[in-house]
Amino acid sequence: MFDVNKIRADFPILQRTVNGAPLVYLDNAATSQTPQQVIDVIVKYYSEYNANIHRGVHTLSQEATDAYEQARLKIKEHFNAAKAHEIILTSGTTHSINLVANGFTSLLEAGDEIIVSAMEHHSNIVPWQMLCERTGALLRVIPMNKEGALEMDAYLELLSNKTKLVFCNHVSNALGTINPIKKIIDEAHAVGAAVLVDGAQAAPHIRPDVRALDADFYTISAHKVCGPTGVGMLYGKEQWLQKLPPYQGGGEMISEVTFEKTTYADLPHKFEAGTPNICGGIAFGAGLDYMNAIGFDAIASYEEALLKYATEKLLKIEGLKIYGTTAHKTAVISFNIEGIHPYDIGTILDKLGIAVRTGHHCAQPIMDFFQIPGTVRASFSFYNTKEEVDTLVAGVERAKNMLS
Ligand SMILES: *Cc1c(COP(=O)(O)O)cnc(C)c1O
Repeated sequence: MFDVNKIRADFPILQRTVNGAPLVYLDNAATSQTPQQVIDVIVKYYSEYNANIHRGVHTLSQEATDAYEQARLKIKEHFNAAKAHEIILTSGTTHSINLVANGFTSLLEAGDEIIVSAMEHHSNIVPWQMLCERTGALLRVIPMNKEGALEMDAYLELLSNKTKLVFCNHVSNALGTINPIKKIIDEAHAVGAAVLVDGAQAAPHIRPDVRALDADFYTISAHKVCGPTGVGMLYGKEQWLQKLPPYQGGGEMISEVTFEKTTYADLPHKFEAGTPNICGGIAFGAGLDYMNAIGFDAIASYEEALLKYATEKLLKIEGLKIYGTTAHKTAVISFNIEGIHPYDIGTILDKLGIAVRTGHHCAQPIMDFFQIPGTVRASFSFYNTKEEVDTLVAGVERAKNMLS
């Protein structure tokens, strides 16, 4: 049974106060909080077996290597990859995307086309623009409509035999929209293009199956699934990872080094130069364990109820407008109140202990589309409660009265 109070007791940070009020943490799309179970894994690593991996014959190094590779296996199982070496451990989504974008430099020619969606995070726009500058490829954009859904007809028109790559997020961090990613992938494959899915915002809410989706690449950050910052995943199909050149040179990624020629290590090490975030990788696995113990079906249905409750209550506030209103969305509410700057609302909410994000959420093109400077974004997790929604709504009402 899903018992939110029992779950909340696992998160020490949720017991603290901010500005004299109990913390109401509604910035989960930026980063999730960390349960004691994951904190314990981090403490245990540094207290008991901190050592460099894949190198030493000594016991600590072997224990650390085993735990790190166990984590890779867990991640592989979680996302249903075919092989463990298709999971590259990176520093996060941004690193994963840059790794692929760099790799494609030698695979693209001038005049080739790359398609991105209009609702991407900056980390899924800028690396492609840089790739276009290096190669002379052209960037095309799938437009979106006023509900915050992609225009699929326009997407189909953009696809052609010039299309080499398609990049799209599974779920929008600014709007919560769940994109029809399977269809996007299938249509891209029909013209021979590869697809990278930015799953950073999907993984906290649903359990993506990279093989069922037939994604060529899938990226996530551990810090959004109850793990630590500075670690994440790049899933890539084996044949693509073989084709891409290494991203960074250094230790761990080589097979043999002479001054004449260096040969690269096998997957996944080819893409894992230098000492990785060992503890982070192990704790990444622990974060997924924690969420799987609760269960993603339970998480999804609880969050859906929370989203419905919060949407209905917020819409009762006069002048409040929600951006991202498709039926198919995760528990993210981006909103504004007419005539009030989002930053001012966020500041007052913080005085009341309520953490929301204000601004463009690293997705400026979306804000330009709606012709707004930004939004207030409340993003929910499975450890949030209806009482916290009530506190948010009362806080927003109070901010409105103070500011208008
Ligand atoms: C958070 C996020 C990113 C960036 O993740 P980092 O951990 O900062 O690399 C990229 N895309 C989406 C959709 C995100 O939500």
